[in-house]
Amino acid sequence: MRHNLFVPNKMPYAKGKNRPDVPCILCAIVEKNDKVQRLEVHRTERFTISLNLYPYSPGHLLIFPNRHVLDVRELNQEEVCDLHELQCLCFEVLTCAYQPRGYNVGYNMGDASGASIPHFHLHVVPRYPRELGFMDVIGGARIIIEDPNATQEKLVQIFQELTTDDHFSRKEKQNEQSRL
Ligand SMILES: [Zn+2]
Repeated sequence: MRHNLFVPNKMPYAKGKNRPDVPCILCAIVEKNDKVQRLEVHRTERFTISLNLYPYSPGHLLIFPNRHVLDVRELNQEEVCDLHELQCLCFEVLTCAYQPRGYNVGYNMGDASGASIPHFHLHVVPRYPRELGFMDVIGGARIIIEDPNATQEKLVQIFQELTTDDHFSRKEKQNEQSRL
């Protein structure tokens, strides 16, 4: 079954069997360490956004600070603002890419929450009607199972497009026009 390729059983990972040999997997992504799979889709001064290696749904993203922070209470004011902006940016990007019908957003903190990575990260999980893992049917159209590399390539491009000055000036013009 092909869809099992990209939604592997998380248990061996949770037990530490398939974990890359790095002290913190998210710090390793920030440091561009070759031992971890490169799933990054966007980066700013203070944050990195990557695909989740074990997605709940197509386009499941993680937003995490570039510094090793364990708890949301450790974020400073600038980081809190950035996190909010990046969360909104993720919604825009995912809407462009996959037209989800909803989102679940949140974080797990502490052993008992199911968190498997201590480094603070916000999950942005797009939701689709009648989800069947990576095989979804939306309004009769089937979402084809997507290779994570293809997902990454597509999202990197949309993040770039939506964060260029060009896009924002275009958007502002549109807003101005709609006000007239
Ligand atoms: Zn870390």
